[in-house]
Amino acid sequence: MTIIEKKENSMQDSFIDDEVLEFMWVTGEEQETTNLESLYNKFGKETVGVVLSAMVEKKLLTIHDSIIHLTETGRKKATPIIRRHRLAERLLNDVLGVSDEVFERGACQFEHFINEDITASICMLLGHPTVCPHGKNIPPGECCSHTKRKLQPVFGPLSRLRTGIKAKIVYLSTGSQESLDWLSSIGVVPGLEFTVHHRKPSLVIRFGETQLALDDEIARYIYVRIITS
Ligand SMILES: [Zn+2]
Ligand SMILES: [Zn+2]
Repeated sequence: MTIIEKKENSMQDSFIDDEVLEFMWVTGEEQETTNLESLYNKFGKETVGVVLSAMVEKKLLTIHDSIIHLTETGRKKATPIIRRHRLAERLLNDVLGVSDEVFERGACQFEHFINEDITASICMLLGHPTVCPHGKNIPPGECCSHTKRKLQPVFGPLSRLRTGIKAKIVYLSTGSQESLDWLSSIGVVPGLEFTVHHRKPSLVIRFGETQLALDDEIARYIYVRIITS
């Protein structure tokens, strides 16, 4: 075995560790127990055989009469994995509009590659969501604590902004090419910084010398990051 192969293998193993922890967490959440049989069915007998004893040795799991339990250490290790997975689901679902079965696969790969800083940025971008698109709880991170939240930039649709808020367009989520063309023809493109001039009787934004009235319907598809509120 070459060094590179060895490295790839150990990386694979740690992914499987993560997947097993994640599986155990989800089963526990559904008030079900995990036994050897269910792990074999999910990951294959051979794979489970390789990783299980190592995980027991690392005190992530205990096994009694074929029933597997997540230890406190295991739970601690699983928490950020679940958090990354569910935040990735939210990102793929809400912002990128990726369909259900595609995002499930995407989220599973994604969770292995994003570090804590990126996870926090995604959480902030999405406004610290508490549930995934399937309604399951997202374990909160440090960024979600109340005192820190206030200081952080917020991301959301333009239609939710109040008068006086300064923001920057990050994403146009309209699926129609016609609306996209129209928006870009009037200068509403990602990167544009503007101020909400007023909200009533209609939403008007201002950038440079331009004042622009926007339909609430359209404003819902324009995602912005708040600069100052
Ligand atoms: Zn989910
Ligand atoms: Zn957060």
